[in-house]
Amino acid sequence: MKKLIAGNWKMNGLRDSNAALLAALTGSSRHWQCDVAVCVPSVYLQQVRDLVAGTDLSCGAQDVSAHESGAYTGEISADMLRDLGVRYSIVGHSERRHYHGETDALVALKAQRALACGITPIVCVGETLAERESGQTEDVVRRQLAAVIHANGHCISEIVVAYEPIWAIGSGKTATPEMAQQVHAVLRMQLNAASQMAQRIRILYGGSMNATNARSLLAQPDIDGGLVGGASLKADDFLSIIAAAY
Ligand code: PEP
Repeated sequence: MKKLIAGNWKMNGLRDSNAALLAALTGSSRHWQCDVAVCVPSVYLQQVRDLVAGTDLSCGAQDVSAHESGAYTGEISADMLRDLGVRYSIVGHSERRHYHGETDALVALKAQRALACGITPIVCVGETLAERESGQTEDVVRRQLAAVIHANGHCISEIVVAYEPIWAIGSGKTATPEMAQQVHAVLRMQLNAASQMAQRIRILYGGSMNATNARSLLAQPDIDGGLVGGASLKADDFLSIIAAAY
């Protein structure tokens, strides 16, 4: 399956630096052997959509509302993302689960709204360090994914899953390829049991992926790409990760 490398810019970037980063990325896009996206702050979706038009780079959001429209101040609907030509939206990133209290049920609804509007949700799951150390990793990620499967039925084959151990995000600590593969295999089995089309679902790894460790992570049989935070802000690093994905 074609791998997907998705950058998560988080709350970084300004118009000038966005343009410089995208110019450095798109200059080499015709050589890419994987799909590539950048998930950017919502105020820059239009800028990024315009700058990547006609290139192999896709534009993604970092969150989407669980509501269709109406009195939800500050929220951005899936319809608005579709209207802008956005292709992907991260949902359930651990920073949103942690800082904004997003529950499994809310994340499942967000994935549902995205799918209803033709936006591919990149559904994040992952355990804390305490959960890993107490042997709960598989139960936690299975519970998080089960909520999304339950709410989305046969549409589940249209999602992307990202396994992001929380202790590895932004910490410089990466799961070893074997640790990541073990969890990816669990998620793959769960998806296979939920849908006959599950083989097409890409399961990304995220958590301090960088130019040095990307190749060995991406070589694992159930790792179908990466969700990349810090390293997606530096063109050379992001391009090295893209080059490792084939
Ligand atoms: C992320 O935020 O999704 C992420 C994986 O961040 P980092 O690569 O910086 O650990």
